[in-house]
Amino acid sequence: MSAPCRIAPDRSTPPTYEGVCVTPLVPDGPACGHSSGELRSADAVDAWIAAHAGVTAHAHYRRGPREPVTAG
Ligand SMILES: [Zn+2]
Repeated sequence: MSAPCRIAPDRSTPPTYEGVCVTPLVPDGPACGHSSGELRSADAVDAWIAAHAGVTAHAHYRRGPREPVTAG
């Protein structure tokens, strides 16, 4: 049996934020999949989404924080 592993918020590291374009490229086909990469703020993700939408007219996205954690 493996040792218990405790997962806890890593307060020494700020969260990052990411947006991903999930717009289907063809009906019922694969999604675009372009990612903003890890950004420092939710506003930066929104700016990336607005820029991607402006170039591609893609309309569907997921966005959210990526929470830093420690394990051990
Ligand atoms: Zn896209």
